[in-house]
Amino acid sequence: MKKSTELFLANFLYPLLVVAVVAAASMIYSRVSTGDFLAYFAKLRLYQWLLITIAVFLTFAMAKIVSIAKQPLTSSTLHSGPTQADNTSYQELGEHLYQGVLWPVLQRATLRSDVVPSPDDFRVDIPPRCPNCKTDLDERKIFGGRLVWSCPRGDFRTTSSISYLAMQETVQKLVRGTLRK
Ligand SMILES: [Zn+2]
Repeated sequence: MKKSTELFLANFLYPLLVVAVVAAASMIYSRVSTGDFLAYFAKLRLYQWLLITIAVFLTFAMAKIVSIAKQPLTSSTLHSGPTQADNTSYQELGEHLYQGVLWPVLQRATLRSDVVPSPDDFRVDIPPRCPNCKTDLDERKIFGGRLVWSCPRGDFRTTSSISYLAMQETVQKLVRGTLRK
């Protein structure tokens, strides 16, 4: 679905739908209890219906604000990938196995093919990947401050005392060290 369509649905159509359902329900209730569909409508003046409509819209707006405030920091806001850290482009070279998970190793894209890349041209990217299916791992805190890295596919799970963001630098040092040998 297009973003604009989603916004239209969430901000306009859904609240209107709620008002329509309330109106329809009151009509049915009115018909059942008085025999007249519009008896209850006659009790409420137009401005009262407008107030109900505004209240529904405000409720939706509040719910939206609350849901935005509750949203956890996404991984993209927590860390900027190597391509955003500077304007150099990187390409994936392979993966490095460390702490039982796969860390993507990126190499700075060199413009000249005759230039041999130095170990500092290599970066380790996050999130690390599942050793079984190479899916990006999820990370969450568990009791005691430890972290769980788990595969969204459900075929892998491990614990760590530090976050993969904190481990990234260490893995990068190890990879660069290996390349210097
Ligand atoms: Zn997996």
